[in-house]
Amino acid sequence: MHSQDYVGRFAPTNSGALHLGSLLVAVASFLDARSRGGRWLLRIDDLDTPRVSKEAERDILTSLERHGLHWDGKPIHQQEHIHHYQRALKNLADQGHTFPCTCSRKDIDRYAGCVQGCGASKAKKQEPYSIRMRVSLVDTDVRDEIQGQLHEGVCSGAKNVAVWRRDGIPSYPLSVVVDDSIMGVSHIIRGSDLADNTVLQVFLLEKLGFKRPWYAHIPVVNDRNGEKLSKRDEATTIDNRHPIQNVMWSMQLLGMDPPQGLALEELLDWGIEHWSLENIPSEPSLSSVVSI
Ligand SMILES: [Zn+2]
Repeated sequence: MHSQDYVGRFAPTNSGALHLGSLLVAVASFLDARSRGGRWLLRIDDLDTPRVSKEAERDILTSLERHGLHWDGKPIHQQEHIHHYQRALKNLADQGHTFPCTCSRKDIDRYAGCVQGCGASKAKKQEPYSIRMRVSLVDTDVRDEIQGQLHEGVCSGAKNVAVWRRDGIPSYPLSVVVDDSIMGVSHIIRGSDLADNTVLQVFLLEKLGFKRPWYAHIPVVNDRNGEKLSKRDEATTIDNRHPIQNVMWSMQLLGMDPPQGLALEELLDWGIEHWSLENIPSEPSLSSVVSI
């Protein structure tokens, strides 16, 4: 593959500092991109305005730089893509796939989606509404380079899904397929917690006429209690004073056996040279058995 054909990305949400679970995703996507001579872009997923902050974004950028994970170009922000999301929504509406929805969360859970036409009456249109899309995912065939065949997951049996939230924000699956298409992303490496959402994303991007990227979902890291490492857990925020240790930990979880005693740049170069998807465990989650 020529380097200009490969575009990878890392897309953290700036709702908190980088944690060990997201560092693992950053290291995996960085090594995959660099080992194939590809570009590695950084996107800040900042749509959820009540939760995100510029301070958290600065912390994330600092952590990536301290760990030698240098991205290409300027960081891209979802906020810059609002008109692209609106255009995609209009495209879906013009094709007749969407409808306004005023259903409660409870109804949606009960019926695996809402009743079609629920928000169609004039009186109901005065209420805040979301926009949903009719879906049929059973025939969408998606292969993952690590997990194998992907399944409908959380969307199993869904007749319709939200594409635009009641609070005026595009849904995650819509925004992510639009973002990746605009950025020309060809390869997506991310945590297996998003594997469940991938069949829906492929269904959406095909309706929008976007090119389908290549997917690889790496295991998420659980703590010793079996809980996924998350931003809510202060203890998992990465310590920028120990980048070599943190990158070693990431590589070991990705099935690599890096030599001790290397400087940070040497360690990353070793990782680029020895990178192989075949080493990555295919389990959806791993316990953090490597001590850091
Ligand atoms: Zn509804």
